[in-house]
Parts: sequence; structure tokens; C-alpha cells
Amino acid sequence: MTNTGFTSKILHSDRRGTIEHGSIHKPIHTAVTYSYDDARNLAAVFQGKEAGYSYGRQVNPTVTALQDKISLMEEGVATAAFATGMAAIGTTLFSLLRAGDHFVSSSFLFGNTNSLFNSFSSQGIEVTFVDATDAGEVEEAIQENTRLVFVETIANPRTQVSDLIKIGDLCEARNLIYFVDNTMTTPYLFQPKSVKASLVINSLTKYIGGHADALGGAVTETGLYDWTTFDNLYNTYKKGDPTLWGITQIKKKGIRDFGATLAPEAAHHLSIGSDTLALRMEQACANANALTEYLSQHEKVKKVYFPGLEEHHQHELAKTLFKYPGALFSIELVDEVDCFDFINRLDLVICTSNLGDTRSLAIPVAHSIYYEMGPERRASMGIDDSLVRFSIGIEETDDLLADFEFALSENSR
Ligand SMILES: *Cc1c(COP(=O)(O)O)cnc(C)c1O
Repeated sequence: MTNTGFTSKILHSDRRGTIEHGSIHKPIHTAVTYSYDDARNLAAVFQGKEAGYSYGRQVNPTVTALQDKISLMEEGVATAAFATGMAAIGTTLFSLLRAGDHFVSSSFLFGNTNSLFNSFSSQGIEVTFVDATDAGEVEEAIQENTRLVFVETIANPRTQVSDLIKIGDLCEARNLIYFVDNTMTTPYLFQPKSVKASLVINSLTKYIGGHADALGGAVTETGLYDWTTFDNLYNTYKKGDPTLWGITQIKKKGIRDFGATLAPEAAHHLSIGSDTLALRMEQACANANALTEYLSQHEKVKKVYFPGLEEHHQHELAKTLFKYPGALFSIELVDEVDCFDFINRLDLVICTSNLGDTRSLAIPVAHSIYYEMGPERRASMGIDDSLVRFSIGIEETDDLLADFEFALSENSR
């Protein structure tokens, strides 16, 4: 078979599963429940003795097809899909950790993940935030009751790159679950399994779905963690292949009990979007490279944060780890330029939150997504008032360059 390339592999994955009426991609199955001619089969499905569909909160054929596709992308052994990326992170941690447990997290986090982790301490699960660009900091934070380490590949908006290889070695040596958020890099640029991740979370809402038309999240089991050594699993999920025990508890208990289920219609949108992930990332990453090169030379731009630039502290590490350094960057403007005026002068680039869309997006970070945390916390995170974050899309490079050039030009009003 010649389907070894990223795109040919995922593009044909649906029809190589169960073919329905020769359908070349998985149909949207909307039935909430499934019937059995023999009641014994229904009982066997409920008892986990037979594979089958029971109730839509737990499992659905359209969602299963998407899960299989994500597993292919990440070269993992199984994937659980969720209604959102936040649901994926929250449900996974609630499924695996118990009161009295501790985990270590990067302090450079997606804002809502940061907010979620802060809530865990009130539930008896302790978290220590560290500078994850240094595996030494992670190591120092490990306690006797530490169960898990959580990091993002490239954090936004300042584009810090986690010390992914060394943290992987550390987690392996200390037998900790290594939970990596791959949203910013996607499995096309980077597979966390290559740095010994145990579980990988992707917000499907972003690059994988890619068109900002559906929310979703996924957690993929890489097969590398030895779940027979993990005390927090219920006996009922410790059956069959031990590499699947953790993800089984996440699916059978986490998704079932919390109910943050991905809808089949959303799964369809995300799956169709994911077909072109590689093509979109090629164009978006090339655009981000061209724009950051241009902006880093511009007199009205004080600073550009992008791991693709040599001046970035972790440029060499990013080159080692990722196929490309992503399609997201941030800039600080010189004092004379107002960040609102600048964004307003952009025409092609849309002023909005979100990232990983086909369209280029800009947001004044301190005044929007980081407003709630206040000036002191922003300063501690290095968020300047003039910081503008860009998620670059797939427009033609010259059109984007012209848009930025105009927005930064003197007499543009
Ligand atoms: C957006 C995002 C999430 C959350 O995903 P949703 O689908 O919006 O819930 C998690 N991690 C990162 C890095 C993100 O960018």
C-alpha cells in the first residue's frame, strides 16, 4: 500500500473502516441509541465483553471514525473525542487524578487551561506551575504524590517552547504520565509520542478542524505509559491490553459521567476539515515565516515572538523538534503606534479571538483574552500592553505582506 504520506493516510481512513453503501467518508449518524435483536448482545456490550454501540453520550460511529483518524495522525493506539478541547483536558484529569494527588504544569498555558488548573486545588488536587522551558524546574517540582506533568508544545501568545525531550526523559525515569497539548503544532508538525508523551491532547477546534465551524477536542493514548503501575484505575477498566486501560477509564467513566460528548455533526465538520491539515499548515507556516521576517526588520515593530526567528531563545530547539515553527506569532509595537489603530488598519487580517483558522486573525492580547488576570499577572507573564497576537491563515503570502505593510505605513489613514 502506498498510503504512507500524512495526507493519503488520513484521507482514505474512513473508507478503509466499515464501508457503508460505498460511502467514501463516514456518514453522520444521528441516532442516540442502538437496538439489539438479541438481548444477550446488549448485555455483552454493556459488560464490555463485546464491542458495540449503546448510548450516544458514550459512543457514536461518526465520532469513532474521527477518533481513529486522530490516532492515525498521532500514531497513537486509541483516541477519545470530546465536545471541546477544554472538555478533553478537564475530563482526562478528573478521570485519572484523585484528591491528594499532585501534578506539575507549565505556567505558559492557554488561558482557560490555566483557569481550570487553578480550580483543581479547591478539589484537593494540587498543581505546581513551573517554567517548562527548563526540565530542571519540572524536576524540582516533583513530589512524592506527583502523578502527571502537563505542558504545551509552543505556548501562546509568547511562543515559549517546552523542554519537551528532557521532560519526556524525566517522566519516563519517574514513571509520571506525560500529558502534552499539541494544539499549536498539530500532529503534522510534531508528534509528542516522539518525545515519550503518554497522552496527547489536541483542540480540534483549531488547526485540525481548521475552519472555525465546529468545536471539538481529542485525547490520544500513545501506548508508552505502563498503566499496570497506576493506582487510580478501577478494576473494571483493567481488562485486556494494559496500554488501553487509561484511555478506557477516560472514555468509559470520564466521557460517560461528565457527558462532554462530541456531537456527530461536529465530528463530521472536524473530520472533513482535517483532510487538508497538511496543505493548510504548509501555507500558513510559510506565511508566518515570511511575515515574521518582514516584521522583525520593521522600524515600528519593537519585538517579534516567533520560534522561527534566530533571535528566539529556543530557535535551535524548535528546529530540532518541529517540522515548522508553527503559524502563530506575536508582536510588540513601538510606543508611537497604537495597537488598536494598527489592528483597525488591517483589512485582510480579521480582529477576533480563536486561532488555527484558514483566515488570518489578530487580537490585542492584554485588552482581551488576558484582561481578566490584571496588570500585575500580565507583567509577570511578559504580556506587554501593545502585544498583538496573530494566527496566520492560508491567504497568498504577498497579499498578507501588503496588508501588514499598509497597516504599518505612515500615511495609511
Ligand atoms: C483553544 C485551545 C484549547 C481549548 O480548546 P477548545 O476547543 O477551545 O476548548 C486548549 N489548548 C490550547 C493550546 C488551545 O489553543
